[in-house]
Amino acid sequence: MVNQDLLRQLPAVNDLLQDEQIQQLAQTYNMQFIKENVQQVIAKQRNKISINAKVELDPQVLVKKVKEQVTQQTAASLTAVINATGIILHTNLGRAVLAPAVQQELQAIAFNYSNLEYNVSAKARGSRYDHVEKLLTQLTKAPAALVVNNNAAAVMLILATLAQDREVIVSRGELVEIGGSFRIPEIITSIQGHLTEVGTTNKTRLSDYQRAINEQTGAILKVHTSNYKIVGFTETVAEDQLLQLARSKGLPLITDLGSGLMVDLKAAGIESEPTVAQVVQNSDLVAFSGDKLLGGPQAGIIVGQKKYIDQLKQNQLLRALRIDKLTLAALEATLRIYQQGADVWQAIPTLQMLTSSSELLLAKAHKLQKLLAPIPHLTTQLCEGFSAVGGGTFPDLQLPTFLVEVQPKSLSVTQLDTKLRQAAPPIITRVKDNTIQLDVRTLSDTNLLQIAQTFKEIMADKGAHGHEENFKR
Ligand SMILES: *Cc1c(COP(=O)(O)O)cnc(C)c1O
Repeated sequence: MVNQDLLRQLPAVNDLLQDEQIQQLAQTYNMQFIKENVQQVIAKQRNKISINAKVELDPQVLVKKVKEQVTQQTAASLTAVINATGIILHTNLGRAVLAPAVQQELQAIAFNYSNLEYNVSAKARGSRYDHVEKLLTQLTKAPAALVVNNNAAAVMLILATLAQDREVIVSRGELVEIGGSFRIPEIITSIQGHLTEVGTTNKTRLSDYQRAINEQTGAILKVHTSNYKIVGFTETVAEDQLLQLARSKGLPLITDLGSGLMVDLKAAGIESEPTVAQVVQNSDLVAFSGDKLLGGPQAGIIVGQKKYIDQLKQNQLLRALRIDKLTLAALEATLRIYQQGADVWQAIPTLQMLTSSSELLLAKAHKLQKLLAPIPHLTTQLCEGFSAVGGGTFPDLQLPTFLVEVQPKSLSVTQLDTKLRQAAPPIITRVKDNTIQLDVRTLSDTNLLQIAQTFKEIMADKGAHGHEENFKR
């Protein structure tokens, strides 16, 4: 049988393990791991023989396969990517990019012991929540503050504390789903609360809330409809009126604000959302994310009345939702940038990208095009386009931007896109109208150089091999 012949020709595991290059791998990886990879590569060939597929018998080729497999298996799964989509708060790409100033603090806390829960001067136990509470109350003018894992956790903690087994009143126009998994009705059910819907999708009046309040009511919840807009014939209740109603009935008014905007974007010419400080004035508790417009790490921030915050601090659930020390370090450092009142528009990358001037964007696009222009087999074009904010914020805001459009001549757009995604770091672009679009809004100067280098390598590879056989445009 031919099969038996081939099987006999297949190098043995032990023979491959004796190979010099495989032996070298042992300097980096443990022998058992290397052996498993050798076994897998050989097993694959044996399998090919059994199904009469084309088999590789050359030991040197098999050694190469082992090395490739080892490299692949040991590569980090979570890696940095280049975001050329122009979407500033891209949830799938990790939302906000931290300010460079945060790095020092993050490093100090990560690689040293810290006073996380220790009051050094009082020689006593401290609270991890104290480190940012004062900053948050200063910045938002709220009497008290607490931070948890993310905004979903913040809303859940608030409702579980103040409205467990009770009714939560929400306008029908605010029963939102955010990011595919955060649904207000389901959050309320999850804490054994009962949702009381009031009003209609487009109109909710004060009298709707009034009528719904009874002795079972635990709270009134306002949800910022951050990822969609109801336009046309609409009516909502003014926040101060709603607060007055809640106070008169002894109920907490809770606001799920979603994104925590600390500075007024009107100053930057963007039709703004209310700032946290504005919302705090007309609410008992306000919850928002740390990694949306605030531009910090993933966190859920709660600010508001001290008596409610104190109740949240007593809830056992807080222990399960607690914020990690690295997050706390990054959050404190980010908030300190706002406290120092320095040029937050420059210092916070999210705000910087959001408010980039068209001159700056154009200059960046020119720079990128200039870097790409000399690369063979590539056509580039500079054009106008729009960026989105993302992260479920500003659903209808289109930020004018500049794009560099790229069309490859020696491979298809799909093939180029695949190669860009396989690069280190991967480059995520928009593919539209059979071109690769690079939006410079979310690209750093370093990114521009990385992109040019990657294109150079891809096209050199393609140029050398001439036109692909399956060349398709
Ligand atoms: C984004 C958002 C959330 C979820 O916040 P996470 O920090 O992602 O948990 C909840 N509510 C609103 C209104 C939001 O916009």
